[in-house]
Amino acid sequence: MKCPVCGEDCVQAAHEIIAMQPTIFAPCSECKGRTLNKQAPLPDQTYGLPCACGKRFIDEVFAHMYVIMVEEGVLQPTEPLIRVGTPLVHPGFAMAQPPYLPVKSLVLLSRVVTESCAKRIVSEVPEVRGVIRSSNAVPGLSDIDLDGIPDTYDLLAGCDVRANIFTTQNEKVVIYKQQSTIHIEFPRGFDPKIIEVGSRVRHVKPRMFVDACSGAGTLGIIAGLYDIPHVVLNDAWYAAAFWSAYNLQVNRENLNFEELKMFFSYDEMKRRPVVKDVQKIAETHGGSQYFEVFQGDCLQLHTVLPEHVDLTVIDLFEKKEPEKVQKVIDNWKAHVSGEVFIP
Ligand SMILES: [Zn+2]
Ligand SMILES: [Zn+2]
Repeated sequence: MKCPVCGEDCVQAAHEIIAMQPTIFAPCSECKGRTLNKQAPLPDQTYGLPCACGKRFIDEVFAHMYVIMVEEGVLQPTEPLIRVGTPLVHPGFAMAQPPYLPVKSLVLLSRVVTESCAKRIVSEVPEVRGVIRSSNAVPGLSDIDLDGIPDTYDLLAGCDVRANIFTTQNEKVVIYKQQSTIHIEFPRGFDPKIIEVGSRVRHVKPRMFVDACSGAGTLGIIAGLYDIPHVVLNDAWYAAAFWSAYNLQVNRENLNFEELKMFFSYDEMKRRPVVKDVQKIAETHGGSQYFEVFQGDCLQLHTVLPEHVDLTVIDLFEKKEPEKVQKVIDNWKAHVSGEVFIP
């Protein structure tokens, strides 16, 4: 599938990603690599090369990036290895062992990297897909009042589109996102939100399901695995709404529709990053399921919903503010039928 960020063929269908999951980060019999102390400087300013099988142990990949960062003056050779940054592997899932990385399987999040250094890392370290400069901010929409424009990180080189694999009771979903625009979550193998959506859906048996703050679409798409005839996903933040729609296409083989129609490109949506008025950005055609994706304020979503809704999930970012959360729930119940829950 064509990637909306780099324009290349860097996105794969869910079934292809799931098929490679058992072996993608496993070493071959020839693979070797040092386990390095992350709290200490790189001992000798050298790094191991990838194995003939094309993979390299993650610590050697970090050693390679460290050497480049020292050469570029971004790091001092006395700084600990951990200062290189945070690795986000692609695809992400709960792992028992540190990975042996194949080509283009790592997005680096670094607070110290410069643009020229990022470009060198992407061109010289084959395992790296993209390099992002991070900050203290959390990317994406984090306030339910929709005040201001959310923070994003800077993609300095390569492509930062990557996927996570989430496991439900029976099936798996693959959720892509552009990492610099949406907050970081990592599958832990046991995700209480996913379990709860599954058990609510099995209990209520909805014909109409709403994921009102969908993020990249995880919960709405998981609900969609249960053959619900009509599913609505919505998010006010352009990147979340876009990836919700895109991820329907990624997981199409496990959902029942024939075609996804997108009404806007990623770049078009980027020009109006947060919208309050609800606007449809994608819908499906054919098959026994109908999915609609909207961009807008979840408190205005009722203006486009059918009269009868059976079940709504509202996955608010700021659950620490119980008064705000209660206001959202009360407002929702005043306008929309059916059960509503916060996972
Ligand atoms: Zn890409
Ligand atoms: Zn090998």
